[in-house]
Amino acid sequence: MFDRASVVTPGGVNSPVRAFRAVGGTPRFMVSGTGPYLTDADGREYVDLVCSWGPMILGHSHPEVIAAVQEAVSRGTSFGTPGEGEVALAEEIVARIEPVEQVRLVSSGTEATMSAIRLARGFTGRAKVVKFAGCYHGHVDALLAAAGSGVATFGLPDTPGVTGATAGDTVVLPYNDLDAVRAAFAAHPGEIACVITEASPGNMGVVPPADGFNAGLKELCAANGALYISDEVMTGFRTSKAGWYGVDGVRPDLMTFGKVMGGGFPAAAFGGRADVMAHLAPAGPVYQAGTLSGNPVATAAGLAQLRLLDDAAYAKIDAVSAELRSLVGDALTKEGVAHTVSAASNMFSVFFTDQPVRNYDDAKQQDVFRFTAFFHSMLEQGVYLPPSAFESWFVSTAHDERAIERIAAALPAAARAAS
Ligand code: PLP
Repeated sequence: MFDRASVVTPGGVNSPVRAFRAVGGTPRFMVSGTGPYLTDADGREYVDLVCSWGPMILGHSHPEVIAAVQEAVSRGTSFGTPGEGEVALAEEIVARIEPVEQVRLVSSGTEATMSAIRLARGFTGRAKVVKFAGCYHGHVDALLAAAGSGVATFGLPDTPGVTGATAGDTVVLPYNDLDAVRAAFAAHPGEIACVITEASPGNMGVVPPADGFNAGLKELCAANGALYISDEVMTGFRTSKAGWYGVDGVRPDLMTFGKVMGGGFPAAAFGGRADVMAHLAPAGPVYQAGTLSGNPVATAAGLAQLRLLDDAAYAKIDAVSAELRSLVGDALTKEGVAHTVSAASNMFSVFFTDQPVRNYDDAKQQDVFRFTAFFHSMLEQGVYLPPSAFESWFVSTAHDERAIERIAAALPAAARAAS
């Protein structure tokens, strides 16, 4: 299948990290998923710790989500008009996340962050955007600039196709460094439209914000007339009922969402202060649109999933995450493998270093080759981890004792392979 895919699709995939380039080997083609398990085209079953990169927080094929999708699809798949499902989903988001006074639905996290920074620029009349090295906000041109570089303060294009002019409006700073943010505001007075940050980063591995970092960002933005944008595409509706906002309580001007809120379908959103959102077309002058935005099938899936995510569901996910973190840590310790299990609420990842990891430069100091050996051993034993040392691991309410036992049984050999 991968050979076939490689003929008709660049690199054989529709999103690069799926290709296993970082770890080598052939990506598995999954044909079905049930609860915490995935089954590949060769009939092998895996305990899934990727959960589609976050969305599948109730596990695969949750009967109530599937039923909601079937009901919605039986009424038609897209109307291109306003619909009740999108209003209900927007109401659910606004009810859960207090700083979101109004929300606009889109189809991907990339669209959400792209639209949020356009709105911030339109609202402030300023051009520059501050982002942090190691934070990923989708493949928005301005946010790919110098992604992954902790050194440059002025963006150089990270990828061909992003122009120098675009990158030049992006200021890239080291994560968890408020002095760098202060210096950037001092260097560009009246020019910075917004600071965008992952609410708690999961795209350089899991690197939580230091105490006071998000609050400091908010303060510096407010003092300098810039908007504070919290990207909760990954953390939203996962790290608590109200996402990372529910954990640290720092009130952003704008927020972005995706993944969990789509229930496995393409649905995402951005929202926040009503006076800022009022600048969006058709209420205001900042243009933003989408043929499939608020799609009735996607919104039905998202709404069904969110309604099942009550306090008990988060307690379950937190407990599964804590148990796995301790099992993984114990197995690596037993084999004498230097490691740090880094967690932010129920999101976690393993850095193969015993040094503190506070930013992307720190994360890159880990022994990536140990992760690669660990990954392949787990895969061979039927545990599907993210195929990169710089990704969060995700669990769901469906990860039961049987699934955890299967992971526990695979860990000793994987830890030995990493040693
Ligand atoms: N923002 C964050 C924090 C993400 O983790 C991602 C995707 O992983 C995105 C934005 C982009 O979302 P999408 O892949 O839906 O475009």
